[in-house]
Amino acid sequence: MPGFEWIDDKELKATTKIFKEGGILMAHGFDNLRKNYYVRNFEKQCKRFFNSNGCLAVSSGTAAIKIALKAIGIKKGDEVITQSFNFIATVEAILDCEAIPVIANVNATLNMDPKDLKNLITKKTKAIIPVHMLGVPCEMDQINLIAKKYKIPVIEDNCEAVGAKYKGKFLGTLGTMGIFSFDHGKIITSGEGGMILTNQKKLFKFCKEYHDHGHENNKRFPRGKDTKKIYGFNYRMTEIQGAIASEQLKKLNTIIKDNSLKLNTLKKIVEPYFEIRHVPQGSKCINDTLIIFQKNKLKKLKIIEVLKKSKFGTKNLPDAMEWHCSFFWSHALKKNQVIRSKKTFRILNSCIAIPIWRNKTIDDYKKIGKQIVKYK
Ligand SMILES: *Cc1c(COP(=O)(O)O)cnc(C)c1O
Repeated sequence: MPGFEWIDDKELKATTKIFKEGGILMAHGFDNLRKNYYVRNFEKQCKRFFNSNGCLAVSSGTAAIKIALKAIGIKKGDEVITQSFNFIATVEAILDCEAIPVIANVNATLNMDPKDLKNLITKKTKAIIPVHMLGVPCEMDQINLIAKKYKIPVIEDNCEAVGAKYKGKFLGTLGTMGIFSFDHGKIITSGEGGMILTNQKKLFKFCKEYHDHGHENNKRFPRGKDTKKIYGFNYRMTEIQGAIASEQLKKLNTIIKDNSLKLNTLKKIVEPYFEIRHVPQGSKCINDTLIIFQKNKLKKLKIIEVLKKSKFGTKNLPDAMEWHCSFFWSHALKKNQVIRSKKTFRILNSCIAIPIWRNKTIDDYKKIGKQIVKYK
């Protein structure tokens, strides 16, 4: 269930509180006028929840990727490897740093194929961005092993799997840096918003300054006299977003539990008849989507029709496939990257993504499961 399905008086109360306290909407400065720091509190809450030393809230997931790349020192002509089943934001962030996106294909996990990653590493490779798509972890042990061997930093794009774990650790804490998104379609949302996680003090310091015009937030001076060493940009989160995100995070465990009940019900029904997306060993998924494979075109279309009619829809696969598969990004990628993505397109073209909704019951999932298996 995306967080937007569960916005209620908890979020309303939290935002109302800001206005009752004087309506300071910016996360920075105005110290003597405010009673609370909503974004700062949200960051502390995330540090505890996800067990990360550094959590920085920013304006979006896309901004977070860009800031992370800048922190690592990505510059013109560097190569950054990411994956073919993805959202275009990752490629945009790489291009915005004037770097070159290099696209690894996916395997049956529908995430980065570590074998293909290995093929793509060159002397110019300066970062690897595995993307945990639709709630399922990448094969992080294999990816980290390769990254370590070549001493390349890993940025986990965990925009689509906030709350998922791999071998006991939260996604976003397994690489050099991790990225979350809280845009309106994600598992928890503040409308727009993102987060950078890192345990490395130096990287965290850079991100904190870069996202706020270079402000060091030096406690010895008022903000207007603040010290600076680098220039940056404005990628700040607002207090309203911070207050909403805080309330949403409190709901995350319940959301995952509700998802899991429904997804497992559906999975039990369809599993004997369909190949299902492979999940790496040691994964704890957020179970917001079940992906099945149906290579037969006609049967696939029938299943999609059933899902549309009953208002389940099919999320990114095939709905919105063009924004999530690099085979369609000739406006942003070099030709050879588009061509090599065809392998992934072929895999994704046999996929159907079934979303798990809050407004659908376990019974609804039993019913839709039974309808789907008719087209095995
Ligand atoms: C949503 C998303 C992003 C971008 O996040 P925004 O907050 O919308 O900017 C990046 N990568 C992936 C995989 C996403 O799903």
